[in-house]
Amino acid sequence: MEKFEGTSILKEIAIGKIHYYSKEKQVVQRNRVDDTEAELRRYEAAKEKALRQLHELYEKARKEAGEDSAAVFDVYAMILEGDQFDASIRSAIESQNVNAEYAVAVAGDDLAKMFEAMDDEYFRARSADIRDLSERLISILQGDSVKSAPGVGAVILAAKDLTPSETVQMDKSRLLGFITEFGSSNSHTAILARTMNVPALMGIPVDEHLEGRIAIIDGVNAALILDPDEETLEYYQEKKRENKRRRELLQELKGKEDVTLDGKHIRLYANIGSVEDTAEALANDAAGIGLFRSEFLYLGKSDYPTEEEQFQAYRTVVQNMAGRKVIIRTLDIGADKQADYFHLDHEDNPAMGYRAIRICLDREEIFRIQLRAILRASAYGNVGIMYPMIISVDEVRRCKEILNEVRGELENREFPVGEIEQGIMIETPAAVMISDLLAEEVDFFSIGTNDLTQYTLAIDRQNAKLDPIYDSHHPAVLRMIRMTVENGHKGGCWVGICGELGADTALTGEFLWMGIDELSVTPASVLPIRKIIRESTVK
Ligand code: PEP
Ligand code: MG
Repeated sequence: MEKFEGTSILKEIAIGKIHYYSKEKQVVQRNRVDDTEAELRRYEAAKEKALRQLHELYEKARKEAGEDSAAVFDVYAMILEGDQFDASIRSAIESQNVNAEYAVAVAGDDLAKMFEAMDDEYFRARSADIRDLSERLISILQGDSVKSAPGVGAVILAAKDLTPSETVQMDKSRLLGFITEFGSSNSHTAILARTMNVPALMGIPVDEHLEGRIAIIDGVNAALILDPDEETLEYYQEKKRENKRRRELLQELKGKEDVTLDGKHIRLYANIGSVEDTAEALANDAAGIGLFRSEFLYLGKSDYPTEEEQFQAYRTVVQNMAGRKVIIRTLDIGADKQADYFHLDHEDNPAMGYRAIRICLDREEIFRIQLRAILRASAYGNVGIMYPMIISVDEVRRCKEILNEVRGELENREFPVGEIEQGIMIETPAAVMISDLLAEEVDFFSIGTNDLTQYTLAIDRQNAKLDPIYDSHHPAVLRMIRMTVENGHKGGCWVGICGELGADTALTGEFLWMGIDELSVTPASVLPIRKIIRESTVK
């Protein structure tokens, strides 16, 4: 039995077998597959994805470095589409019943060796291209394995690091928890774990030797226990049962109002990052969605989601919430949330860089497509829209102008569009300081304490080393919240919190005294907060 300490993301327990997910060094295992047809389809899908990536890389290289440099990506695409490579992969899957990763690795290796043995220098050089290409295919296939880890049943996923885009693609039904070596507890990967209610630890040494070992994530004590003995296993199984009983006790709060003892009604909403998360929000009886992080629809994809795709996603959430409020935050891409097809330049300081509303107001067509999708979905329920990373009145006015234009276009084309409340995220000190002016422009404020803490304290939320001093309870942050509530109310706005601090039960009482109108929290935090609201007074 071994024990490691890390940083806990959720105070829950997970017990299970570890699956090691590697992206740096491809560990390709030979697995037997019974359904070769399904495996061939996996390979086909990966091949399609690789071809799309290669096409994008070709275009990017052509623009930035010219046709000659871009040509290499065309060569890759030719190999991928050519008969020889494709035939050996298919034949290995079909005749040897092996998994696609293994078939690609062997076919890639054989072909690369064949080229290496050629006399012609040009062809010899192609062997490196083939290795590169088969690595690309394998990592796409292994990316799938983050979504659905191989083997039967659910696993604890172990990775050196996980990006938000990898996390958002995971199949939650097969995920007991995850551990990473790197990553900060304020990152979007951590936030996603909380939204999915999945126990996670960061700062745990991770390597391939963890594969297949039994582990316990003790989220309360921020510890990972490897190869637990019988007694320890029994202890944690009992703890898990206790937690379940505790959660069951909260179930009696379902259907009850979010009202304080002295009669103030609070909007108690849930944060979601995907259409699927709506089920958790409903299961926990959230009165609405206070933050739909729409950018997660853009992550883990090889191209922009279309208007139709987005419309379907928003409409599904809105319909499932059946008249309850759904606040969709417009695209907040950038910083740790990256999608290759945006082709964002490398930045030294991306958290303060080209991101969120700055991209939307610069690349208006992307923004307009999203606004069209949101407005169309608004006809199906009670939709709000909010803009992230606002620092000026001009930005807000421009957003409203564009929304009006898009609404006009839709109405001309006779699309039904609903009434929509417009709000902004208050997550920069600038927005707090001009919140009196901003309140004149919008219907509501939603305080993003994750970024507000980062910018107020000048502490990079991605930097795990600074986790101990990233203090959302800092008086500067609490004063900012109070100022925002006061200015918002004076200007006729309702004011909520959708950052992680909103779920901090140690502060619920204080937020209520400040006059907060809404708290939007991870779905699993809804009932514990309801309990406190119902036991509190606002005066
Ligand atoms: C925030 O900054 O508090 C927020 C809710 O947005 P995100 O965490 O997605 O940056
Ligand atoms: Mg933010």
